[in-house]
Amino acid sequence: MLVPYHQPHDPQIECPQCRRHSVVRHGESEYVCLNCDFRRDLSQPYLGGFGNVMLGLLAFGLVLFLGQLLHS
Ligand SMILES: [Zn+2]
Repeated sequence: MLVPYHQPHDPQIECPQCRRHSVVRHGESEYVCLNCDFRRDLSQPYLGGFGNVMLGLLAFGLVLFLGQLLHS
């Protein structure tokens, strides 16, 4: 017989800012720390604009790399 592993309904998440397990889910995808003012919206990309720039550079590098392959 399988005994399901007991999981708390709303597990407390450790806050990356103050290291306290006081992060609660707020709304659909947002997490807020009750101890400090840390908050993160998981529906937004973590790196934001910087991530987009990095992705752009990566795509550009890939195009250059493929170009090199085609010419060799
Ligand atoms: Zn915190």
